[in-house]
Amino acid sequence: MPTITLKPGREKSVRNRHPWLFSGAIQHIDRDAPDGEIVEIHSDAGQWLARGYLNRRSQIQVRLLTWDAEQAIDEAFWRSRLQQAIAGRAALAADPQTNAYRLVHAESDGLPGLVVDRYSDWLVVQCLTLGIEQVKPLLTRLLVELCQPAGIVERSDVEVRQKEGLRPMMGMLHDAAPAGPVEIMEHGRRFLVDLLAGQKTGFYLDQRENRRRVASYCPGGRVLNAFSYSGGFAVYALAAGAQHVVNLDSSLEALELGERNLALNGFDPDAQAEGVAGDVFQVLRDWRTASQRFDVIILDPPKFAHNQQQIERAARAYKDINLLAMQLLQPGGVLATFSCSGLVSADLFQKIIFGASVDARREAQVIERLSQGPDHPVLLNFPEGEYLKGLVCRVW
Ligand code: SAH
Repeated sequence: MPTITLKPGREKSVRNRHPWLFSGAIQHIDRDAPDGEIVEIHSDAGQWLARGYLNRRSQIQVRLLTWDAEQAIDEAFWRSRLQQAIAGRAALAADPQTNAYRLVHAESDGLPGLVVDRYSDWLVVQCLTLGIEQVKPLLTRLLVELCQPAGIVERSDVEVRQKEGLRPMMGMLHDAAPAGPVEIMEHGRRFLVDLLAGQKTGFYLDQRENRRRVASYCPGGRVLNAFSYSGGFAVYALAAGAQHVVNLDSSLEALELGERNLALNGFDPDAQAEGVAGDVFQVLRDWRTASQRFDVIILDPPKFAHNQQQIERAARAYKDINLLAMQLLQPGGVLATFSCSGLVSADLFQKIIFGASVDARREAQVIERLSQGPDHPVLLNFPEGEYLKGLVCRVW
């Protein structure tokens, strides 16, 4: 098996079972080691440390798979990792009220580069790395064996694949495509999900628990669901007794799906809700001028920081929308604000929201701290897996 030798003194993160090996830690790569294939990691002193898959094109040159010298990376390995991931979702699988959740959360499930989401009888797969791309047919076969899905959709149409030298890909890995949007259930609420053309893998599964938490502040209130996508938070808010909900998003397709989702849950999309197409930054400004007021505002923007260089600009953007949202809240109103930028830490995010409250001249109290759902676990060896953070604030 081809070998990679680390630089002296660079084995600490490998010993701590961090799954990423960066080029800076590597002294030597066997020339005949093919990209995408399994390599052995040795210390400078020649001691075997770990085994993983290689890609010279990526800054993360190796994603480590095992620290057990006896464990071969064969079909039995992939099957057991998938089985472990599935076992970790047993409580969700047994919940008759929910049939959509993340089945495999990549590094955090010991399967670097692989995401699998379950949507009712369907699976959606994302292959983010060359190493996973190479074993895609095997993984597909194993997922069919273990989950017996109606079909498996591939949604590897993501930018990160460029870093691996891979082109975006999407289509069917197994069986025929669903005839249209697939209906899923989450805590007994029903949603239509477009597996082939929706954002991400179709739905923001990571917000499931937060939708329920945030809904508990909505009874009787006028709610603004900003960056609404297909209106997940809106359905929960109305189900909890909100008086009225506005879905605000720049995507017309998302708003249209949002209306269908309201109707699917027995709500009147015209009387109880409104869909507004526009740029949140602009619309909130306009509404401030027009003295619009809400009792609850949800801010769930897309990822603003994709790399270190973008953190400062992202921080300004987060501050901007949060400042505006606070000014649009009735005294005593609730702001549920999220960031899914992994590079913006929970600590930095709280500081940004603090800055927004000072500039908005409003006092804000943190009443809840939110995170990604339990089907998006954070492996302690891999704190990078924690990306979603939310603050629920009462704003005076
Ligand atoms: N809260 C949603 C997920 C939001 S994802 C849920 O629970 O499902 C982010 C959404 O923001 C996407 O639907 C995207 O279309 C929208 N978006 C991105 N930039 C925007 C902008 N500047 N103004 C309005 N919507 C925007």
